[in-house]
Amino acid sequence: MIVVMEPGAGDEQVQAVVDRIKAAGLATHISVGVSRTLIGVVGDDRTKHVLRESLERTPGVERVVAILQPFKLVSREFIPTDTTVTVGPATVGGARLAVMAGPCSVESREQILAAADGVKAAGAAVLRGGAFKPRTSPYSFQGLEEEGLRLLAEARERTGLPVVTEAMDASQVELVARYADVVQIGARNMQNYVLLREAGRAKRPVLLKRGPSATLEELLLAAEYILNEGNYQVMLCERGIRGFNGHTRYTLDLSAVPVLKRLTHLPVVVDPSHGTGKWRYVAPMALAAVAAGADGLLIEVHPDPANALSDGPQSLSVENFAALMASLRPVAAAVGREL
Ligand code: PEP
Ligand code: MN
Repeated sequence: MIVVMEPGAGDEQVQAVVDRIKAAGLATHISVGVSRTLIGVVGDDRTKHVLRESLERTPGVERVVAILQPFKLVSREFIPTDTTVTVGPATVGGARLAVMAGPCSVESREQILAAADGVKAAGAAVLRGGAFKPRTSPYSFQGLEEEGLRLLAEARERTGLPVVTEAMDASQVELVARYADVVQIGARNMQNYVLLREAGRAKRPVLLKRGPSATLEELLLAAEYILNEGNYQVMLCERGIRGFNGHTRYTLDLSAVPVLKRLTHLPVVVDPSHGTGKWRYVAPMALAAVAAGADGLLIEVHPDPANALSDGPQSLSVENFAALMASLRPVAAAVGREL
């Protein structure tokens, strides 16, 4: 439930409400808006029910509203305004679209620096690249691990681009957060609750990818784990779900974008690279994602896609990425966004 404070409520009144909620054994999440403060109350439903009436009579409280959705902190009912996520010098969720681009995996110093220079020149805001790779086969390239993180940090030094990279396990979060600007949680790990909690305790924004078979409610409840640990800097990512068509790797669910934008205040990023699995379809689906209201894109770009160690078939060359960026500008402008 949410305690909506009166517009003029003072800090002491907010504190008195928080103290009362905590004394009942419930947790609070405070959201200070332009006109009023909202206090989210999470915990046992019966306790909330008992507390509700007395909170309604507490000075400074305008009203108490129940959140009907199963997800609470991520819901628009709790925070009606769009959340913006700060990624180094970039912002995700504002008027400017954030394009995150780079190779599927960090493969070598030459490769990641060439990719970083290429995507920077084309106008990307964030560099992506996997150091710990979740591969379907144990015989496939598994990533350069900490050496990959070091190379990403070097690419950031050189280009000024902040870096997003995946932590595959709770034990890797601290290490990834030490090198990277954003901790990515991969599609296969969307419901790894130990990892979600650890990411919630990290002092870094999180990019949470939708599981290939996850409903949007499951995605939002996964994000709820991260916010519930105190980390509100979360971006959701639609990256395609399991379908039955044979022509793309997954089915990119672009209807998720407007639905998520209605249900949650968190920014929504679309990954047409994994969503389609084929480089030819990446640009059209990227344009469609922006038209649908996405706040950002995650695009795989490789200096030599034909020889990539992972996801070459869906990777854009640097030239094709630059062409995509140019074609995105008018679409972004048409929906009131800048690039
Ligand atoms: C990735 O972004 O490199 C990746 C592995 O994506 P996903 O978790 O969506 O498969
Ligand atoms: Mn990939």
